[in-house]
Amino acid sequence: MLRRLLLLKLTSYLILSPALAAAPVQTAPILRTPTVHRQVTALYIRALVTFMTDDGTEYAFTFDVNGQVSDIQSSYEHDRTVVTISTSTVGVVHTHPRGCSPRPSEQDITVARDAGIDNYVLSEYALWVAHLDGRVEKVGNVTLKRGDLLINAFRRRKVAPTGRA
Ligand SMILES: [Zn+2]
Repeated sequence: MLRRLLLLKLTSYLILSPALAAAPVQTAPILRTPTVHRQVTALYIRALVTFMTDDGTEYAFTFDVNGQVSDIQSSYEHDRTVVTISTSTVGVVHTHPRGCSPRPSEQDITVARDAGIDNYVLSEYALWVAHLDGRVEKVGNVTLKRGDLLINAFRRRKVAPTGRA
């Protein structure tokens, strides 16, 4: 059962079909899975020009509970991005170009709640999320380093050396 979300330019959305119930899923571990992390990095690189110019394009991809990611969609051609989500989709990550707030918009929050998925917003310096339960939080600051997107909240803590007494 597939639904389509139209991600309209300027961060407004139109939902074409009613929401499906989705089981709450811990999203941070999902984002840490290699496939999703690689796609978040690819999304950031794809959107770089929109962070630095007035290009205005938004990009997005979805991921499911198993860490499977969709292709990156863009709003370039028709002023909108169509993202297909299924019952296993647990999240969407979309970009906010320069000039947009890095925080989820009211429409982003509505999409998360109505579609029952976590709606991540990636901008030049930060990753935010509107959770499906309505909570909005900053995941962390982001930096592209050696071709990899570092999300500071996800940095592994240094493990203290274990004593060998
Ligand atoms: Zn947005």
